[in-house]
Amino acid sequence: MSPRNRKTQLWLIFGGLLIALLLAAVFTLGSLDLPFQPRQWTEVLILYAVSTFIVSALLVFGLVLARTVLRLWAERHAHQPGARFKTKMVLAAMAISLLPVVTMFIFTYGLVSRTMERWFPRPLEIAVDESQKLLADFGRTQHERLSQLAEQVSMGEVSKNSRSPAYAALIYGADAAWRLDVAGNPLEVQVGTRSSGTAPDAVQTMDHPPVPRMIRMLPGGGELWNLGGVNYVAGRAVRNDGTLVVARRLPADFFQRFTSVETEMRTYSLQHQQYRVYKGQIYLVFSLFTLLLLFASTWFALFLSKQVTVPIQALAEGTREVMTGNFDYRVEAQAQDELATLVRSFNQMTAQLGESRRQIDDFTRNLQLAVQELERRRKVMEAIQENIPTGVLSLDDNGAILRSNSAVTKIFGERARTAQSLVDLMGEDAARGVQHLMRRSLRMGAASKELEVELPGRVLHAAVTVSSLGPRRSNPGFVVVVDDLTDLLHAQKASAWQEVAQRIAHEIKNPLTPIQLSAERLGRHLERQHAAGTKPADPDLTHLVGECSALIGREATALKALVDEFSQFARFPTARLVSTDLNAIVTSALDIFAGQMDGVTVRTALAPNLPAIKADPELLRRVVVNLIDNAAEAMEGSAVRALAIATAPGTDGETVHIEVADSGHGISPEDKDKLFLPHFSTKDRGTGLGLAISGRIIAEHHGTIRVEDNTPVGARFVIELPVAEVPATPLPSES
Ligand code: ADP
Repeated sequence: MSPRNRKTQLWLIFGGLLIALLLAAVFTLGSLDLPFQPRQWTEVLILYAVSTFIVSALLVFGLVLARTVLRLWAERHAHQPGARFKTKMVLAAMAISLLPVVTMFIFTYGLVSRTMERWFPRPLEIAVDESQKLLADFGRTQHERLSQLAEQVSMGEVSKNSRSPAYAALIYGADAAWRLDVAGNPLEVQVGTRSSGTAPDAVQTMDHPPVPRMIRMLPGGGELWNLGGVNYVAGRAVRNDGTLVVARRLPADFFQRFTSVETEMRTYSLQHQQYRVYKGQIYLVFSLFTLLLLFASTWFALFLSKQVTVPIQALAEGTREVMTGNFDYRVEAQAQDELATLVRSFNQMTAQLGESRRQIDDFTRNLQLAVQELERRRKVMEAIQENIPTGVLSLDDNGAILRSNSAVTKIFGERARTAQSLVDLMGEDAARGVQHLMRRSLRMGAASKELEVELPGRVLHAAVTVSSLGPRRSNPGFVVVVDDLTDLLHAQKASAWQEVAQRIAHEIKNPLTPIQLSAERLGRHLERQHAAGTKPADPDLTHLVGECSALIGREATALKALVDEFSQFARFPTARLVSTDLNAIVTSALDIFAGQMDGVTVRTALAPNLPAIKADPELLRRVVVNLIDNAAEAMEGSAVRALAIATAPGTDGETVHIEVADSGHGISPEDKDKLFLPHFSTKDRGTGLGLAISGRIIAEHHGTIRVEDNTPVGARFVIELPVAEVPATPLPSES
């Protein structure tokens, strides 16, 4: 069961209990001993119907009011929206309705009091009292007089006539007299008839008088008798042998009037006794109506305030829902007038918000997809940029470096990592050249040029292309693309020299053999003359010719060796690559110099477990031998002669390094650029082919060779060669 259902059930139980209590109250009120004493069943019915209606209405309103007030209290306690407004409305309605209700109550109270007083006026009360006294006096005086007469007559004190005491009584003024025995039966009845003013002895008696019958006692003591249809007031004298009753005649309608007066007096006094009870009942009825009015006004105030607070509460609830992002929420509360418009507007607003939210969600989703796509493209671009050998720089409109790829560092060296401007990166001369290109690119979009950049220790030949990112007035920056042409230029020069070497070798070799043969022939001719003992005609000339032919022969041989070397360079054999141990090659190269390195400290640091390389061992050994030979020659004039040879695996795991460092005279920056060209040599009899051939051999091995300054002095040659088999590295997982 949900908490809401449980709450409803609790309320129902509470309401049931309340109804039971109120029913008990109705029952109690209904069974009250009301002061009304209705005599007809219709009156009883009306009385009960009216009281039931009042009590029922009171109960219904009371129940509704109690429930509403309790709910109001609970709402106020729970700080529900609208509870304060409802409370204010109810209090205001009560205050406003109390004024007329209380006025009406006071007015009604006065009215009822005055009306009730008119019902029982004071003169009427006096008249009633006096009537009662008169009746009592009348009864008492008649009774006393007649009883006295009866006593006198029965005692014989007045006996003018001795016929009977009853007759005597007639004589003395009574209208009738009769004697009764002890059991009350009439013994003698005398009824006199006389005209007024007649003497008692003129009384006539009836021969057959009727039987007297006592009707009742009068207030004050008189007795009322009926004799032959005529009413009498009587007094009596009691003796041992019976009773004498002496009576006087009363008017014919006396009894009827007496009864009527007596009844009215009794009714009046009874009603007067219940005066307060009537008043109380009327006030009770008015109180009930007053309360009813109060309840009605309160209930109406609640009803009115609910018309406002229920929609407001629903709107507040709706606002909360909208705040949590539920735009499908609709306010269902029934509202009237302007509030209905407000609820309708709120629902429309929520619907529009929901629609906007959906559009924003769609837009955000699309935007996210676009951003993801852009990010993917950016990564691809970044990967391309990072992996191409071309250096890419992005500059702002003032030429300050914003970003650069890793190729820039490879091309320009470590200074590229910290360089903020073109001057920092490539020096003033080259930077001026690039700035010129930037200006041109503003006019033409893009501009290219080949530049020579002087870097510490070397000269960089670069093809630089500058593109502007926008028109001159709103240009956000430039992109500079740098291609390192140094190796290409070297290769071009090398191949040009190869061709030159081929031609020279060919051109020189052809006349060389006849020259050498002629010189040898001249020499042999002179030797034969000398052996035959023939005295030369001109000994000086002969001696000169002999010396010259020997010199020509020697130089021709040297020239031939040079030409051979040239032609070897030109017809360089293709390297046959096999899996080779680099350390073994280095060791065998060093072996050649065993015993010839006097005064040179040779240090070797060969890395153990070096991966095998694909190499032509003979050619590679020639390269190492050439490097060691050059180093030894460079150190000839040095005070400290130290040669360091090292092998090491590359940091990327795909290459191995050989380093040959010496403490010789070193190489100037401008010489470094020409070092690997065939013609370059600083030695008197150097061919300049050693490093050129070494460069070609390393290129055949898909490796690189470069020269750096050794610290503190000398030169260091570094060869990088790819390993035979790159160990398989696990690819990064898809996730
Ligand atoms: P060669 O030895 O016939 O001159 P190389 O090509 O071997 O031809 O060398 C070219 C030039 O490079 C040399 O003349 C020398 O000036 C320079 N060189 C080579 N190795 C060194 C070195 N270790 N130290 C200084 N200069 C060197």
